[in-house]
This record gives sequence, structure tokens and C-alpha cells, in this order.
Amino acid sequence: MRLSRCLIPTLKETPAEAQIASHRLMLRAGLVRQTAAGIYAWLPAGLRVLNNIARIVREEQDAIGAQELLMPTIQPAELWRESGRYDGYGKEMLRIRDRHDRELLYGPTNEEMITDIFRQSVRSYRELPQSVYHIQWKFRDEVRPRFGVMRGREFLMKDAYSFDLDHAGAVRSYRQMMLAYMRTFQRMGLKAIPMQAETGPIGGDLSHEFIILAPTGESQVFYDAAFEAIDYSGGNFDHASDSDLARFTALMTSHYAATDEKHDATAFQRVPEADRREGRGIEVGHIFYFGTKYSAAMGFAVAGPDGAPLHPEMGSYGIGVSRLVGGIIEASHDAQGIIWPDSVAPFRAVILNLKPGDAVCDRACDELYERLGTGVLYDDRAERAGVKFADADLMGHPWQIIVGPRGAAAGRVELKRRASGERADLSLDEALARLG
Ligand code: ATP
Ligand code: MG
Repeated sequence: MRLSRCLIPTLKETPAEAQIASHRLMLRAGLVRQTAAGIYAWLPAGLRVLNNIARIVREEQDAIGAQELLMPTIQPAELWRESGRYDGYGKEMLRIRDRHDRELLYGPTNEEMITDIFRQSVRSYRELPQSVYHIQWKFRDEVRPRFGVMRGREFLMKDAYSFDLDHAGAVRSYRQMMLAYMRTFQRMGLKAIPMQAETGPIGGDLSHEFIILAPTGESQVFYDAAFEAIDYSGGNFDHASDSDLARFTALMTSHYAATDEKHDATAFQRVPEADRREGRGIEVGHIFYFGTKYSAAMGFAVAGPDGAPLHPEMGSYGIGVSRLVGGIIEASHDAQGIIWPDSVAPFRAVILNLKPGDAVCDRACDELYERLGTGVLYDDRAERAGVKFADADLMGHPWQIIVGPRGAAAGRVELKRRASGERADLSLDEALARLG
């Protein structure tokens, strides 16, 4: 895309309302604009990041055999009366009446709806286990929306639901999901640590939060750095192998990790001092096993092997897709701006034309732009070089290809890696080869 034709409204000034780095940088880099408290419009570059994150989430859900579907944002109140959560959910739920005075709500989560869908469609134990997920907007009327997209009121969540015939099956689904989560976060360049969590209003008896460290996190966390060294990729753990899952679970439970509510100072002292990590944490995902809570309350049973009705054992699994955009920036930025990991960057590189209108510069840039294809941003604006450098650093593109008149005349460009600041003087072909 040509920057001169893009809706990427970067700001020089720091917006006064933004208290934390990711919020400031998301506004300054032109990723989002707030339209009401805790509600954001995603501008083109921001949407590209959101879509990249959603794609990684989707690929890792698909990889463990979860099926994607799409449930609506608007739900009938009736379903929530069946589970008993309609009144209990309180003011966080946005309640709506339609023209016929029917009670609706903007979904904060989908346990009731998915249980209803399964109850209408799945009759026999032979059809289970199954896991499904969707990536859909949620609404929670938070008392204090803040920190930009990190605590919004409307936000994008991946929520998955598993249905199993017995406890052992449900625990297996839970562990597979946990492995998928570790892979998902690893691919985004994040060190997410699973921590035992209180089960809260969703209820149940097995639950983990996935936390990344950032100074602005909302809870205090403690963990063993051994987590950061584990490679969760497919070659190391096969989600379909019970022995791999057992080895994975043993690793996840043998190292110390706790939020302040569950922190045990004595146990933490047993972690080698150099490996003790302590700081503020941001919750980017949360998984629950809650057994037959919803299947029993809502009358969902399948015919078991002996014909007797059986309530499936369920779990639910959330990832804050829009919160991750802020979370990744919190984990990866410097004084100049964002440093996008390659896997989620809105553009994998930017071409900086330092002298638009100069025939040689224009020709070199056009050639690079053509050969690199979509996914690359071309800063063709009639701006000073300093403005382009500052904007490129602010926007955080992983690579900058800097084309100036002198270099271009000699057939050379400068390639800069945003993360390390490393620069190389290369021919066009060499630069293209580096970018693969
Ligand atoms: P929190 O403790 O941060 O309020 P939660 O426990 O209420 O979150 P869950 O119901 O577990 O949230 O939702 C799953 C995921 O959705 C969370 O791990 C988080 O990443 C994301 N999420 C929850 N609330 C918000 C919000 N208001 N804005 C953005 N993302 C959110
Ligand atoms: Mg939570």
C-alpha cells in the first residue's frame, strides 16, 4: 500500500487520555480511534494486526481439531435464565429490548448459546467428543474501561467450548487446549505463563490464566523463568499423543507460577534466584473446566453407551484477541515506538523513499514495491526524511528499506531491522533476498 493513500493517521503528540505505552502507541501509530468509552474503530493498519493475531489463534485451534463456527453477538435473555446467570451477571451485561419488547443481550460470552446449539443437534455419545470455537465481538459494560483496547467494553475474543463424555476426556481436551495456547502465544513472540486461577462466575474446578509480564499489568505475578525456555512447537509435543500431553502437563505444573492471590513465598524461594521472575502481569487468556454445570442446568444429555442419558462434561477457553494487540505492544516497544514481531506486523516492511520526485529514487522504490508485493508499505509521501524515519520507527515495521538519491544512483539501499537497529548497505537484489 502507498502511504500517501492510506488511512494511517499518525500523531506526533502524545494523546492526553492515554496512560500506558500501548494505548499511546496505538493512537499515535494510527491503529485505532475511540468512538465511545471502551469502544474502538480499527483503522486499516490496526485491523491488519488484529487479523494476523486472529489467524494465528485460528491456526492453532484448528491444529488441535477444534472446529470454527460463528455465533451471533445478540442473544436471547431466555437462554441465560435457563442457566441461572441472567440476574447474577449484573450491570456488566448490556441488556436490550427489541420492538416486540423481547429481552435480548449483547453476549459477554457464549456458554449458554453453545450448549443450546449442541442440545438441539447432538443426541448420541457416538458424536462426542467435539470442540468448537468462534472469534466474535463481545460486550461487557466494564465499570472502568481503560488502557485502550486492553480493557474495552466491546472487544474481540476467541472462545472455544469442549464437550466430552467423561472427566478423563474433559481433562484431555483441557490439556490439548493449554498446549494450543502456549503455541499461540509463542508464535506471537510472547512469553505467556499459565497460572492456576480462581474459577470465578463461570464456575468449575480446573482453571488457568495465561499471563504476560508488563509493568502496567493489573495483577502481581511470580514465576520460574524455566517456562520461558520451553519450546512448545509441534515437533516437541504432539497434541494427539497421551504421553506427550502428560509430559507437557508435568512441565506446566512442576515449575512455580502464581498470581498474588495464590502466591506462596516459601515455595517461590525454592526457585533458583536467577530464575525468579516477579512483576505485573496482563491476562491474555483464561481456560476453565466446569463439568456438567451447563449441560445439567440446561437439560443437554446424549444417549450413553447403555442407553441411559448422560450430561456431557464441558470446558470453555478464552483468548483476548483485541487485548493481545495492546499486550504485544506492552511487551515489545521502545522510546521511538512499536517493535512488531514479524508474525503479527501490519506490514512486513516499509520502503522509505527519501526523495520522491527524484527519478532514480522513484524507479528503485517502484521496483522494490512491485517485487515485494502486497504486505509491504511504501512511504511515497512528500515529507522530509526525518518525518519518514520517525513514523517508520513509530509504526514498528520489522524491516525498513531506505532509498536515498545517492545510494539509488549506485544501485544500493539501506536495510534496517527495527528490533536491533542493525543496518546493512545492500544492492536491491541483496535486500530483496534478505526479505525472502
Ligand atoms: P479480566 O479478569 O481481565 O476482567 P475475565 O476473567 O473477566 O478478564 P474471561 O471471561 O476469562 O475474562 O475472558 C477471556 C479473555 O478475554 C481474557 O483472558 C482477556 O484476555 C479477554 N478480556 C476479558 N475482558 C476484556 C475486556 N474488557 N477487554 C479486552 N479483553 C478482555
Ligand atoms: Mg479471567
